[in-house]
Amino acid sequence: MSASRPADGRPPQRALSAGFADFVDEAGFRRLIGAGAPEAARVRDVLARSLAKEPLAPDEAAVLLRAEAPELVEEIFDAARRLKRDVYGRRIVLFAPLYIGNLCVNDCGYCAFRASNPDSVRRTLSPVEVEAQVAALERSGHKRLILVFGEHPRYTPEFIADTVRRVAAVRTGHGEIRRVNINAAPLDVAGFRTVHEAGIGTYQVFQETYHRATYARYHPARTFKGDYDFRLDSPNRAFEAGCDDFGIGALFGLTDWRFDVLGLVAHARHLRERYGVGPHTLSFPRLQPASGVDLAGAPFVSDGDFKRLVAVLRLSVPYAGMILTAREPAALRREILGFGVSQIDAGSRIEIGGYTEAGDAQVMDREQFALSDLRPLDEVLRQLLEDGHVPSFCTACYRMGRTGEHFMEYAIPGFIERFCTPNALVTLTEYLQDYASAATREAGRRLVERELAAFPEGAAKESLRRRLQATRDGQHDLHE
Ligand code: SF4
Ligand code: SF4
Repeated sequence: MSASRPADGRPPQRALSAGFADFVDEAGFRRLIGAGAPEAARVRDVLARSLAKEPLAPDEAAVLLRAEAPELVEEIFDAARRLKRDVYGRRIVLFAPLYIGNLCVNDCGYCAFRASNPDSVRRTLSPVEVEAQVAALERSGHKRLILVFGEHPRYTPEFIADTVRRVAAVRTGHGEIRRVNINAAPLDVAGFRTVHEAGIGTYQVFQETYHRATYARYHPARTFKGDYDFRLDSPNRAFEAGCDDFGIGALFGLTDWRFDVLGLVAHARHLRERYGVGPHTLSFPRLQPASGVDLAGAPFVSDGDFKRLVAVLRLSVPYAGMILTAREPAALRREILGFGVSQIDAGSRIEIGGYTEAGDAQVMDREQFALSDLRPLDEVLRQLLEDGHVPSFCTACYRMGRTGEHFMEYAIPGFIERFCTPNALVTLTEYLQDYASAATREAGRRLVERELAAFPEGAAKESLRRRLQATRDGQHDLHE
């Protein structure tokens, strides 16, 4: 984000952080991708390291990318499922995106909101409209939002911070938003400090692609986003400003997907080495059709490759939350959840104002890309219950000052039993009481009973039992 519009020609170079490093070794990545199928023993060594919760280096992740034998590929999927079960339990955190405004000075070749798209309907929600959207989301049961902004002089750090405060202040009955994440343009250090002070959760900036030539093809040099290094440096500046919950991601399908897997793995490694904290979340959206966008020539990613990339990311960065969005169809989301996804959106509408205005249909000239899973929150949640997941609206760590939670999550044995599962069951019970359909309420009640019966005996179980009963009796927000 910057205060001035790009003029003709390149916008001025923006300052990088003290911690900037170009960790993307393109020639090295190419060699790793092309090195030939690894021995089975090498694949199993790497899997063993990952199952011991060791983050992988790019050369180790590449071993998993190059494995060819069907039984080895199956072992990779099995290991991802095991890691998911052992480290993350069965909770899946639910959230919704809220698009605040689609003014944008950039011209990304794959995006319907790009400045040169005359078909895109431009709009920024007014404060009253923001409140109406948030109220609609609260009435459906959401507690966690990600606010999405284009890159435009109007969307300053102060504007983002004001919007966060406005969202957090909306109350509808027992409804409230307890965690507000942001997806917006990369800021400078002062800008990150401003949004941090407004109480944001995670700030996300996706590199889109780590491959410089591809990046240049989709992000013209005359735009702010054309500055690859400034974007790559975003988490460094955020960390230096005190935001230690940062989400990174890639838009898979712009270039060879294996290259961008290695880019994400190297990025996570760089952040851990430099700051001692890795990314809070990894996102891995796939390129989708969008209004007025010609994607001829993009390699895209098949469903089979997509599954592999999710499994390899899970195994490579065991501590990071993984976000799977409604860009993907419901059936594929269901399958991929088992590989270690920890957060999904549900009931999402991505047209501006879509939670109150668009009904069930997608309105392509008001969306950034097409969504595939349009099921309402209650239906997604019921499916999760039927598949044995524990849907969660937990926001406890951030509110209890446990930031860098991803790190603790894998570093502290028992984190799942101590915090995640109890908070998931309590927030699920809150949802069942306040918002669920009869069928979901019944499925949820059975799952909570089963989980409570299976919970290890002791003080934590007693505390959980008390919180569940108090929630059924009408209390709210009993987090630990
Ligand atoms: Fe703007 Fe983001 Fe779309 Fe690029 S991807 S044109 S920055 S809204
Ligand atoms: Fe996430 Fe912390 Fe809640 Fe676990 S307890 S779900 S890590 S916020």
